Amino acid sequence: MMAGIWVVAEHADTALELLTPARQVADSLGGPVVAVWLGRQEAPPLFAHGADEVLVCTHGGDDQPLEAQVPVLVAEALQAQPEAILVGASLRGREVAARMAAALGTGLGSSCVALRVRTDGLVEMDRLVFGGRAVQTVVCTTRPQMATVAPRTFSPAPPVEGRSGTVRTLPAPPPSPVTVVERKPKPAVSGDVAGARVVVCVGRGMEREEDLEMARRLADILGGEVGCTRPIAEEYHWLPEHTYIGLSGQQVKPELYIGIGVSGQIQHVIGITDARVIVAINRDEKAPIFEMSDFGIVGDLYQVVPRLVDELTRALGK
Ligand SMILES: Cc1cc2nc3c(=O)[nH]c(=O)nc-3n(C[C@H](O)[C@H](O)[C@H](O)COP(=O)(O)OP(=O)(O)OC[C@H]3O[C@@H](n4cnc5c(N)ncnc54)[C@H](O)[C@@H]3O)c2cc1C
Repeated sequence: MMAGIWVVAEHADTALELLTPARQVADSLGGPVVAVWLGRQEAPPLFAHGADEVLVCTHGGDDQPLEAQVPVLVAEALQAQPEAILVGASLRGREVAARMAAALGTGLGSSCVALRVRTDGLVEMDRLVFGGRAVQTVVCTTRPQMATVAPRTFSPAPPVEGRSGTVRTLPAPPPSPVTVVERKPKPAVSGDVAGARVVVCVGRGMEREEDLEMARRLADILGGEVGCTRPIAEEYHWLPEHTYIGLSGQQVKPELYIGIGVSGQIQHVIGITDARVIVAINRDEKAPIFEMSDFGIVGDLYQVVPRLVDELTRALGK
């Protein structure tokens, strides 16, 4: 008797997204889909999106890190013997998954982008490797079969009204040997690039931090958000890390993406493959980004962007 598929997540969106592959795996292997909610806020509508049972993991307090819940999850998993566990690959989710896999003595496929059930009951997991240039397929030959799945890899299934199930609260975790001394919200300089309809993406072609103002103006006119390549966030710290796009950053799906001084390395463009229209502004006509652009402007961004802003301001009356 298969003991079900678990979805473990701390963020509402990820929990709902993970229910999609969990449901598919459960439909093949049999057994319920169990959503394990780690979030500090109220759980999202997990039943409507495919969960059969919800386990709520209680927090030990504000001074407790998320991984304090691992012993509780491990104890429950040892008892329930789930067939597979899918964990939302947030920063802390990845840590929880690794610790759980180690404690359960099982395998873990990290950052999976597709899951398929084989006839022998093993779940094939596709992972991007070599910076997204290749796909590696792995299986866990031990149980539970564990995988982490990055946010926005799957879409949540449409909600089904009236679906219900049982909710159980897990015991409070024992105190962690690590105490959280302080929590500070990240200052939100710009908004949600992942959900934006228009993304103006700044790359290393921009020379000075104050020049970001051009990109902000362009984004404002078009009702969009400013995103960036990884070096802009991680090396220059001009924009917050949640705004960088690509393999290790955000996956974006805008109607319009405008890359300004972005070369188009694979690790970046992997994050924009779902953009409807891609526009690139780069002074190097051989820049790889032009190969995947719908519209390319070869030119100095310091001349092109102000002209674009002027033209759009006039055309849109802003
Ligand atoms: C494991 C791994 C993961 C990574 N993950 C990511 C990721 O998720 N996201 C990401 O973005 N990167 C990621 N990277 C880094 C990635 O490989 C590239 O280094 C990065 O995307 C390059 O950023 P860029 O295009 O801003 O800079 P560059 O590659 O330096 O390109 C700058 C471009 O600006 C142009 N330019 C310069 N001046 C001007 C001007 N005045 N006018 C017009 N054009 C101009 C140049 O011609 C050039 O094409 C990752 C790397 C590794 C190894």
